[in-house]
Order: sequence, then structure tokens, then C-alpha cells
Amino acid sequence: PLRLIGLRKTFGSLVALDDVDLEVPRGRTTVLLGPSGSGKSTLLRCLNLLESPDAGQIDLGDGPVEVGGILPRRTVREIRSRSTMVFQQFNLFPHLTALGNVTLAPVESRGMSRADAEALGRDVLAKVGLAEKADAYPDRLSGGQQQRVAIARALAMDPDFLLFDEPTSALDPELAAEVVSVLADLAAEHRTLVVVTHSLAFARRVADQVVFLEDGKVLQDGPPEEFFESEDPRLRRFREVVG
Ligand code: ATP
Ligand code: MG
Repeated sequence: PLRLIGLRKTFGSLVALDDVDLEVPRGRTTVLLGPSGSGKSTLLRCLNLLESPDAGQIDLGDGPVEVGGILPRRTVREIRSRSTMVFQQFNLFPHLTALGNVTLAPVESRGMSRADAEALGRDVLAKVGLAEKADAYPDRLSGGQQQRVAIARALAMDPDFLLFDEPTSALDPELAAEVVSVLADLAAEHRTLVVVTHSLAFARRVADQVVFLEDGKVLQDGPPEEFFESEDPRLRRFREVVG
């Protein structure tokens, strides 16, 4: 598994992550739930060092690495290269086609030839159901299609794990459903996914593990049934309010 050990992140006097210990099983989908401000995005961002933790260790499978404080560039590069983040706002380059968006990083940071990158790009676009949109520019794609291009772009980096921060919350329900079904396909292929969502329906559908955060602490961590059946008043309240 991927392990976080004693991960701590503060913003001034605010403790956003309070010594979080967590195991994310490989080949499974872990869903992060919790109230607004509980630290979900911060946890995801710390996982690939978009945010630098104050203290703690990350173990990607080959031993714990200290990630607190100022890190050598090599460590940052190493950890970042193992995961890819998909954001709520899709962040596509408007001046590049779908294929251009997907092939950019493989060419520029994986050193692939343009021909190989294009073959890979068409492959991952097909995987998200957008084979026929390879040459379309983002402004000609629906929000759901744009998000699927963003997912294809992440897949083209061939990461060990994929991080999603509310991947459907900017979308209408119908378009969100397309994206959820792509995520369900990825989950069925046993990729390692970590998904922040406010959707209990989504958690029910794809989660193998549910992690519930509150005030920067992990309150509950286990199979989805445990979360959905827990009598803990804080979890019950959350299920009532969100669900
Ligand atoms: P939401 O569901 O609303 O997205 P979240 O669980 O993702 O919430 P985080 O964004 O991780 O919450 O924020 C956790 C806490 O850290 C919040 O109190 C937030 O205000 C604070 N925080 C996050 N980023 C920063 C920042 N760059 N500077 C200062 N405080 C921050
Ligand atoms: Mg967030």
C-alpha cells in the first residue's frame, strides 16, 4: 500500500492535517469524505507535494521518505512522478486540441517521441470514450468531455496512483455521470485511485475504502459498509446532511 505516517500540515495557527496516519491500498479506490475545511484537499495535495507538509513521511512502497520541511528537488520530483492530480476545474490548455493536451506531458516530461505520444494519446482518449474528439479544442467540448480529457491526460502519465479532487462538482448531474462512469472503469481495472468527493452515491458505487476526515484528523477509515453503517454521531450527522 501507499502509506502516510504522521503527516502534519499547518497554515499559521491552523492545523489542517493533524498527524495523519493512513494506508491507501494499491489497486483500489479510496474515497475521502468529510465536512468542508476538514483537510481533504490538503491531504490530497500533500500526497504529491503540491503542498509541502510540516512533518511526516510518505511511503510509496519502497520505504518511508521524510517529507516535512524543505526537501531536495530530487525527492519532490520522485514523489510527484508517481502520482497525477485531476482537478475540479479541468485546467486544459485552451490553445491545444484534446490530443495536444494529452500528449504534451508525455513528450515534454517523459521524453516520448511525438509519434509514440500520439499513439498513447489516442489510446487514453479512447479509454475515456473520446476517440472521436482528439482534434477538438476544449471550448468545443462539454464540461464532462473536458474533464474526461483531463483524466486521459493524467492516464497518459502512467502514474502509480491518480488523485481526484471533486472531479464532478463543477458539472451538471448528467455530465457528472459520464465522468463517474469513467472513474468506475478505472476502478474496475484496479488502478489506485484516491478521490475527494461530496457525493455519498459516488462513494457507495466505487469506494473500496472510505476515509472520513474531520478537523484534520482521520475519524473513520475502512470498508464503505463501516462508514455507511457507523453509529458514530458525527458520521450519522454527516450522512444526513450530505446524503
Ligand atoms: P472543502 O470540502 O471545502 O473543499 P477541504 O476538506 O478540502 O474542504 P482544505 O481545503 O483541505 O479543506 O482546507 C483545510 C483547512 O486548511 C481549512 O480550514 C482551510 O481554510 C485551510 N487552508 C487550506 N489551504 C490553505 C492555504 N493555502 N492557506 C491558508 N489556509 C488554508
Ligand atoms: Mg477541498
